[in-house]
Amino acid sequence: MAILILKDGKEKSVLLRHPWVFANAIREIRGHADPGDIVKIADKRGNILASGFYNPASSIRVRLFWWGNQTVPTSYFQTALNNAVKRRAPLAKASDTNAYRLVFSESDFLPGLIVDRYADVLVLQTLNPGMERLKETLAGHLMELLHPIAVIEKNDADTRKLEGLPVKRGILKGVAPDGPIEILENGHRFLVDLDGGQKTGFYLDQRENRALVARYAEGKTLLDAFSYTGGFSVYAAAAKATRLTRVDTSREALESGKRNLTINGLDAIQDEAIRGNVFQVLRGFRDRGRQFGMIVLDPPKLAATKAHRDRAIRGYKDINLLALKLLKPGGTLATFSCSGGIDADTFVRTLSWAAKDARREVQILHRLHQGPDHPVLLSFPEAAYLKGLFCRVL
Ligand code: SAH
Repeated sequence: MAILILKDGKEKSVLLRHPWVFANAIREIRGHADPGDIVKIADKRGNILASGFYNPASSIRVRLFWWGNQTVPTSYFQTALNNAVKRRAPLAKASDTNAYRLVFSESDFLPGLIVDRYADVLVLQTLNPGMERLKETLAGHLMELLHPIAVIEKNDADTRKLEGLPVKRGILKGVAPDGPIEILENGHRFLVDLDGGQKTGFYLDQRENRALVARYAEGKTLLDAFSYTGGFSVYAAAAKATRLTRVDTSREALESGKRNLTINGLDAIQDEAIRGNVFQVLRGFRDRGRQFGMIVLDPPKLAATKAHRDRAIRGYKDINLLALKLLKPGGTLATFSCSGGIDADTFVRTLSWAAKDARREVQILHRLHQGPDHPVLLSFPEAAYLKGLFCRVL
């Protein structure tokens, strides 16, 4: 097994159990390693500190998952998978929810492995060559552990390209579901198209935030911007919101949102579905003086990395400024950023600039984040990608 020797001083983050070793932290490689091999990391004196997956194609050269000088046991991955599943036991027991994240990569000591449960189907992503090699084995363990009807591979994330992996989808184990499958989230039904859907088909990270929005929705008109398949809209309609305005660029997403309202018996609500760019649609609403009691702004990633940060901040400021202007006095805004390159403080500051330019006084009622099935290790704060603020405009 190859040993990678760190430059002087670069052992600190490894000792603090941060799981990423960047290329520029490495002084030399002793031995040969192929992409996806498990390698050991040593300090400048040769003391072995940790082990992880090697990938020469990525600037994150090694992804650590095992600390200490011992060799990674062959049972490691099965045990880590078991532990991740056990930690979700409270969710598994809930009778009103059957869709959640079972494995969240570094946070579950399985870097590059994402497993989502959608009722009887598991959807897996492997995001580096080390995990990629193990996917058949992992799918087999998941079949034994949870007896799903299928384990599907949805490996179409852009990050795979950065790791030198091809983009692909397919069945790893079991039998493919015929058409969309129905999931239950906090008692609400959703049809999830595992074939065509974005990400892994449904945004599981917003489960708790949707429930929070529902608490404030009664009697309100909701503008659900970037509505996708209507997650927030279904919750708000069920909580007696009076009217929905859903905005998305995707016609399929808007149609699927309508279907989700229907299967929950919420057809009767006034529901306006607008296919368009939120940035422009909100400007149009402002010009026509339209007002809402509640707005949800849940845009896709505007900055994947720090490089796109400035442009992303301008984007967030723009839509939040418009949203604040569209709220009735006392109205509420649930605003999100899932950009890894924007931290929570930056997001708050961006909102405060938006409020100043919109000339609105704004109170933060709740700080929001991804649900507990997407945990964040203290040693790996980068996993906290979803940030949100629930605010009231005075
Ligand atoms: N709130 C949703 C998830 C939103 S995902 C939920 O709870 O499920 C982001 C959505 O934004 C996608 O559906 C995508 O089609 C849409 N989108 C991306 N850019 C857009 C734009 N400029 N205007 C409108 N919709 C956009």
